Amino acid sequence: MVEAEREEFCAFHYTNTSNGKCSTCGLTICNLDQQYGVSADRICQLCFNITKARRIVRYVQIGMWVVIIALVITLWQVLGSGNIIYALLPIILILFVPYILRPLVFRLYFTDLLPKESILPILRYFEASGNNEHYKIFTKLLKKISEEDLEEIRPALYSYLIPALAFNFSRLPEEWEDEMITNLRISKEDFVQVFTKDYRKILIQTSVHNAQENLSQFLIYLSKTANDKELLKEYITEITSAEIMALSEDDLNTIYGKLLEDVFLFEEQFYEICDELNLEKEKTLLSQLLSRYEPPPVPKNQIEAVMTPAQLREKRKKEREVASLPQDTASLPQDDADLQLILDEPEKKDKK
Ligand SMILES: [Zn+2]
Ligand SMILES: [Zn+2]
Repeated sequence: MVEAEREEFCAFHYTNTSNGKCSTCGLTICNLDQQYGVSADRICQLCFNITKARRIVRYVQIGMWVVIIALVITLWQVLGSGNIIYALLPIILILFVPYILRPLVFRLYFTDLLPKESILPILRYFEASGNNEHYKIFTKLLKKISEEDLEEIRPALYSYLIPALAFNFSRLPEEWEDEMITNLRISKEDFVQVFTKDYRKILIQTSVHNAQENLSQFLIYLSKTANDKELLKEYITEITSAEIMALSEDDLNTIYGKLLEDVFLFEEQFYEICDELNLEKEKTLLSQLLSRYEPPPVPKNQIEAVMTPAQLREKRKKEREVASLPQDTASLPQDDADLQLILDEPEKKDKK
């Protein structure tokens, strides 16, 4: 396994050993990075640029407002008060402000940064945010990198790329894999190998402990393509590990809801894999996990539609508790009487 420790090298200058972290975003930096924040703490070039860009963008926005207001007043003067509607037309320009600003913001963010210096930081941003914009910038930068630089940066790049992809698998665009293969300039087989050989541990850990929609299908696909059945064995063993099996009902459904959802949706496929790989014990454990799985509740109204599955689950639980109260109190005297009998018995015996 060649999982490179990305904490060891600078995120901006991958050939340099890191000697600290940016106090704002936590990216590793080296002695070439000498920017400081307002409180004189070391920050990276990207954070430095972003702070500066925000100020400039604010001025540009104010400037645009001034122009728009000036246009409205001028038109009003020229057209006369009878045509006030036409005089207000320049206000529509406000709608275009974000589109006008976008290229400027992009340029400002990456001032003094080469594509090969920006690519690892933007991947970290994508990993943390899952923001599609960050992914697009990454693809754009990757295209710009020369063949020579790409070969040199490749190991460092993978150590940032694979976790970012695995963590945000459900957010990737449909054609992500083809796009990646083309831009990384490697074969499909080599790309699959990066996952199944070099970053196997990260892949399995993420797939289980940070599961996402359809990630199980990606693992099945990787295993087939790389002809690596052991991968699925390790994956299923991790799902049915003692640590997960020992969780309470609540924790299991809250923390591993996404994972169980995948197992639930592809139940037959999981059992077939278990049969094929002789994972009898794991098959039983999987079905045990599924019997404890509560599928996310279906929203009943507009308010519930905006709630997360976890919030909705919590709400249903409370509703159930409230609903079950009268039933419980109704059955209580009975239980109490039964209990009383049992308690009474020894006493009676004693008396005899
Ligand atoms: Zn930073
Ligand atoms: Zn550096």
